[in-house]
Amino acid sequence: MEVLNSIPVRLEPEEVLRKLHLRKVNEDVERKVQELIEAVHLVVRPKAVYEVSYVDNKNEDSLYIDGIRFTSRVLRVNLDKVGRVFPYVATCGREIDEIAIPDDFMKSYLLDVIKDMVLRSSISYLQDCLTRNYALGQVSRMNPGALKDWPITQQKELFSIFGKVEDLIGVKLTESFLMIPLKSVSGIFFPTQIEFKSCQLCPREVCSGRRAPYAPDLVKKYREKI
Ligand code: SF4
Repeated sequence: MEVLNSIPVRLEPEEVLRKLHLRKVNEDVERKVQELIEAVHLVVRPKAVYEVSYVDNKNEDSLYIDGIRFTSRVLRVNLDKVGRVFPYVATCGREIDEIAIPDDFMKSYLLDVIKDMVLRSSISYLQDCLTRNYALGQVSRMNPGALKDWPITQQKELFSIFGKVEDLIGVKLTESFLMIPLKSVSGIFFPTQIEFKSCQLCPREVCSGRRAPYAPDLVKKYREKI
Protein backbone atom coordinates (compact mmCIF):
# COMPACT_ATOMS: atom_id res chain seq x y z
CA MET A 1 0.00 0.00 0.00
CA GLU A 2 1.25 3.49 -0.83
CA VAL A 3 0.27 6.79 0.78
CA LEU A 4 0.78 10.01 -1.17
CA ASN A 5 0.84 12.93 1.26
CA SER A 6 3.08 15.47 -0.47
CA ILE A 7 0.84 16.26 -3.41
CA PRO A 8 1.73 19.69 -4.81
CA VAL A 9 -1.05 22.28 -5.21
CA ARG A 10 -0.75 25.55 -7.15
CA LEU A 11 -4.00 27.50 -7.38
CA GLU A 12 -4.27 30.42 -9.78
CA PRO A 13 -6.99 33.08 -9.27
CA GLU A 14 -7.88 33.07 -13.00
CA GLU A 15 -8.49 29.33 -12.91
CA VAL A 16 -10.77 29.61 -9.84
CA LEU A 17 -12.68 32.49 -11.45
CA ARG A 18 -13.13 30.47 -14.64
CA LYS A 19 -14.71 27.61 -12.67
CA LEU A 20 -17.36 29.99 -11.30
CA HIS A 21 -18.94 30.53 -14.74
CA LEU A 22 -19.97 34.05 -13.71
CA ARG A 23 -21.22 36.41 -16.39
CA LYS A 24 -19.34 39.27 -14.77
CA VAL A 25 -16.62 39.14 -12.14
CA ASN A 26 -16.50 42.09 -9.79
CA GLU A 27 -13.59 43.29 -7.66
CA ASP A 28 -15.13 41.94 -4.47
CA VAL A 29 -15.16 38.38 -5.84
CA GLU A 30 -11.61 38.78 -7.15
CA ARG A 31 -10.43 39.94 -3.73
CA LYS A 32 -12.18 37.07 -1.96
CA VAL A 33 -10.66 34.52 -4.34
CA GLN A 34 -7.20 36.00 -3.74
CA GLU A 35 -7.65 35.95 0.06
CA LEU A 36 -8.87 32.37 0.01
CA ILE A 37 -6.05 31.15 -2.22
CA GLU A 38 -3.53 32.67 0.19
CA ALA A 39 -5.23 31.05 3.19
CA VAL A 40 -5.51 27.70 1.42
CA HIS A 41 -1.88 27.62 0.28
CA LEU A 42 -0.80 27.94 3.94
CA VAL A 43 -2.53 24.76 5.06
CA VAL A 44 -3.60 22.58 2.14
CA ARG A 45 -2.41 18.93 2.18
CA PRO A 46 -4.31 16.76 -0.31
CA LYS A 47 -3.63 13.06 0.07
CA ALA A 48 -4.26 9.72 -1.54
CA VAL A 49 -3.76 6.07 -0.73
CA TYR A 50 -3.69 3.23 -3.23
CA GLU A 51 -3.07 -0.48 -3.30
CA VAL A 52 -1.78 -2.77 -6.04
CA SER A 53 -4.50 -5.44 -6.16
CA TYR A 54 -5.41 -8.50 -8.16
CA VAL A 55 -8.70 -9.51 -9.78
CA ASP A 56 -10.01 -13.01 -9.41
CA ASN A 57 -13.10 -15.18 -9.73
CA LYS A 58 -14.99 -13.15 -12.33
CA ASN A 59 -18.69 -14.04 -12.59
CA GLU A 60 -21.63 -12.58 -14.46
CA ASP A 61 -22.15 -9.49 -12.34
CA SER A 62 -19.41 -9.72 -9.76
CA LEU A 63 -15.72 -10.31 -9.18
CA TYR A 64 -13.19 -10.48 -6.37
CA ILE A 65 -10.40 -8.01 -5.75
CA ASP A 66 -7.84 -9.09 -3.15
CA GLY A 67 -10.39 -11.69 -2.03
CA ILE A 68 -13.17 -9.10 -1.52
CA ARG A 69 -16.39 -9.42 -3.52
CA PHE A 70 -17.56 -6.49 -5.64
CA THR A 71 -20.93 -6.53 -7.37
CA SER A 72 -21.07 -4.54 -10.59
CA ARG A 73 -21.57 -5.79 -14.11
CA VAL A 74 -19.92 -2.68 -15.56
CA LEU A 75 -16.85 -3.18 -13.37
CA ARG A 76 -16.75 -6.88 -14.26
CA VAL A 77 -16.97 -6.09 -17.99
CA ASN A 78 -14.32 -3.37 -17.71
CA LEU A 79 -11.99 -5.79 -15.93
CA ASP A 80 -12.68 -8.74 -18.24
CA LYS A 81 -9.10 -8.83 -19.49
CA VAL A 82 -7.47 -7.09 -16.55
CA GLY A 83 -5.58 -8.86 -13.78
CA ARG A 84 -4.05 -5.98 -11.82
CA VAL A 85 -5.98 -2.94 -10.56
CA PHE A 86 -5.39 0.01 -8.24
CA PRO A 87 -8.08 0.69 -5.62
CA TYR A 88 -7.69 4.17 -4.16
CA VAL A 89 -9.05 6.87 -1.90
CA ALA A 90 -8.12 10.50 -2.66
CA THR A 91 -9.02 13.63 -0.71
CA CYS A 92 -8.68 17.40 -0.58
CA GLY A 93 -7.42 16.80 2.98
CA ARG A 94 -8.74 17.72 6.40
CA GLU A 95 -6.53 20.81 6.62
CA ILE A 96 -8.42 22.79 3.95
CA ASP A 97 -11.71 21.30 5.16
CA GLU A 98 -11.16 22.90 8.56
CA ILE A 99 -10.91 26.47 7.23
CA ALA A 100 -13.95 28.24 8.74
CA ILE A 101 -15.87 30.90 6.83
CA PRO A 102 -18.36 32.58 9.17
CA ASP A 103 -21.40 34.28 7.58
CA ASP A 104 -20.13 34.82 4.07
CA PHE A 105 -22.11 32.81 1.56
CA MET A 106 -19.99 33.84 -1.42
CA LYS A 107 -16.74 32.97 0.33
CA SER A 108 -18.11 29.59 1.46
CA TYR A 109 -19.08 28.85 -2.12
CA LEU A 110 -15.67 29.92 -3.41
CA LEU A 111 -13.95 27.71 -0.85
CA ASP A 112 -16.09 24.79 -1.97
CA VAL A 113 -15.00 25.34 -5.57
CA ILE A 114 -11.36 25.51 -4.46
CA LYS A 115 -11.69 22.27 -2.43
CA ASP A 116 -13.06 20.60 -5.53
CA MET A 117 -10.05 21.79 -7.53
CA VAL A 118 -7.71 20.49 -4.83
CA LEU A 119 -9.43 17.09 -4.93
CA ARG A 120 -9.05 16.98 -8.72
CA SER A 121 -5.32 17.79 -8.35
CA SER A 122 -5.04 14.92 -5.92
CA ILE A 123 -6.74 12.47 -8.32
CA SER A 124 -4.70 13.56 -11.32
CA TYR A 125 -1.43 13.39 -9.30
CA LEU A 126 -2.36 9.86 -8.27
CA GLN A 127 -3.17 8.93 -11.87
CA ASP A 128 0.18 10.28 -13.12
CA CYS A 129 1.94 8.44 -10.34
CA LEU A 130 0.27 5.12 -11.25
CA THR A 131 0.84 5.40 -15.00
CA ARG A 132 4.50 6.34 -14.45
CA ASN A 133 5.36 3.83 -11.71
CA TYR A 134 3.56 0.86 -13.25
CA ALA A 135 4.03 1.67 -16.98
CA LEU A 136 0.28 1.51 -17.49
CA GLY A 137 -0.34 3.52 -20.65
CA GLN A 138 -3.98 4.58 -20.54
CA VAL A 139 -6.04 4.15 -17.37
CA SER A 140 -9.69 4.71 -16.48
CA ARG A 141 -11.46 4.68 -13.15
CA MET A 142 -14.75 3.65 -11.60
CA ASN A 143 -16.26 4.80 -8.32
CA PRO A 144 -18.91 3.01 -6.21
CA GLY A 145 -22.13 5.00 -6.30
CA ALA A 146 -21.41 6.79 -9.59
CA LEU A 147 -23.76 4.37 -11.39
CA LYS A 148 -26.76 2.39 -10.09
CA ASP A 149 -24.91 -0.72 -11.23
CA TRP A 150 -22.28 -0.31 -8.51
CA PRO A 151 -23.92 0.63 -5.20
CA ILE A 152 -22.36 3.24 -2.97
CA THR A 153 -22.56 0.74 -0.08
CA GLN A 154 -19.59 -1.03 -1.68
CA GLN A 155 -17.39 1.76 -0.40
CA LYS A 156 -17.24 -0.32 2.75
CA GLU A 157 -15.61 -3.22 0.87
CA LEU A 158 -13.32 -0.80 -0.95
CA PHE A 159 -12.18 0.84 2.28
CA SER A 160 -11.57 -2.59 3.81
CA ILE A 161 -8.73 -3.13 1.31
CA PHE A 162 -6.76 -0.41 3.13
CA GLY A 163 -7.62 -1.04 6.76
CA LYS A 164 -7.83 2.30 8.63
CA VAL A 165 -8.15 4.91 5.89
CA GLU A 166 -8.79 7.58 8.53
CA ASP A 167 -5.39 6.93 10.09
CA LEU A 168 -3.68 6.84 6.70
CA ILE A 169 -5.07 9.95 5.00
CA GLY A 170 -7.73 11.35 7.35
CA VAL A 171 -10.80 10.18 5.39
CA LYS A 172 -13.67 8.80 7.46
CA LEU A 173 -16.45 6.69 5.97
CA THR A 174 -19.70 7.30 7.86
CA GLU A 175 -22.50 4.78 8.48
CA SER A 176 -24.43 6.39 5.62
CA PHE A 177 -21.45 5.96 3.25
CA LEU A 178 -20.51 9.63 3.17
CA MET A 179 -16.84 10.43 3.16
CA ILE A 180 -15.51 13.15 5.47
CA PRO A 181 -13.98 15.41 4.12
CA LEU A 182 -16.82 15.55 1.61
CA LYS A 183 -14.36 16.37 -1.15
CA SER A 184 -12.98 12.86 -1.19
CA VAL A 185 -13.41 10.06 -3.68
CA SER A 186 -12.89 6.32 -3.60
CA GLY A 187 -12.61 4.03 -6.59
CA ILE A 188 -10.54 1.72 -8.72
CA PHE A 189 -8.08 2.70 -11.43
CA PHE A 190 -7.53 0.09 -14.12
CA PRO A 191 -5.54 -0.12 -17.35
CA THR A 192 -7.63 0.09 -20.49
CA GLN A 193 -7.20 0.48 -24.22
CA ILE A 194 -10.46 2.38 -24.66
CA GLU A 195 -11.01 5.16 -22.17
CA PHE A 196 -14.06 4.61 -19.95
CA LYS A 197 -16.02 7.27 -18.07
CA SER A 198 -19.03 6.39 -15.92
CA CYS A 199 -20.84 9.45 -17.31
CA GLN A 200 -21.13 7.60 -20.66
CA LEU A 201 -23.58 5.22 -18.96
CA CYS A 202 -25.38 7.83 -16.84
CA PRO A 203 -28.60 9.34 -18.25
CA ARG A 204 -28.81 12.27 -15.80
CA GLU A 205 -29.70 15.33 -17.85
CA VAL A 206 -28.45 18.11 -15.60
CA CYS A 207 -25.07 17.52 -14.00
CA SER A 208 -22.27 20.07 -13.69
CA GLY A 209 -19.78 17.24 -13.15
CA ARG A 210 -20.45 15.42 -16.44
CA ARG A 211 -17.15 14.28 -17.99
CA ALA A 212 -18.48 12.58 -21.13
CA PRO A 213 -21.74 12.54 -23.14
CA TYR A 214 -24.37 9.88 -22.40
CA ALA A 215 -23.99 6.94 -24.81
CA PRO A 216 -27.15 4.71 -24.87
CA ASP A 217 -25.51 2.31 -27.36
CA LEU A 218 -22.72 1.68 -24.91
CA VAL A 219 -25.27 1.00 -22.14
CA LYS A 220 -26.75 -1.69 -24.37
CA LYS A 221 -23.32 -3.23 -25.01
CA TYR A 222 -22.61 -3.48 -21.28
CA ARG A 223 -26.00 -5.16 -20.73
CA GLU A 224 -25.33 -7.72 -23.42
CA LYS A 225 -21.74 -8.54 -22.52
CA ILE A 226 -21.78 -11.56 -20.28
S1 SF4 B 1 -23.17 12.55 -15.36
FE1 SF4 B 1 -22.90 13.39 -13.31
S2 SF4 B 1 -24.07 12.00 -11.97
FE2 SF4 B 1 -23.75 10.94 -13.91
S3 SF4 B 1 -21.87 9.74 -13.59
FE3 SF4 B 1 -21.27 11.69 -14.55
S4 SF4 B 1 -20.75 13.00 -12.82
FE4 SF4 B 1 -21.93 11.29 -11.97
